[in-house]
Amino acid sequence: MRVRITLECTKCKQRNYTTSKNKRNNPERLEIKKYCRFCKEHTIHKETK
Ligand SMILES: [Zn+2]
Repeated sequence: MRVRITLECTKCKQRNYTTSKNKRNNPERLEIKKYCRFCKEHTIHKETK
């Protein structure tokens, strides 16, 4: 049930991380605060399609 997802910085729209999630545990779009090396700060990263 694990699917690969890409995490995109909501500020600069760079795709910084790829990860996986369990669709059963996280059916919603993932939102994680992570360090963006383009913004040089922690920003919200959202799952992309
Ligand atoms: Zn960014």
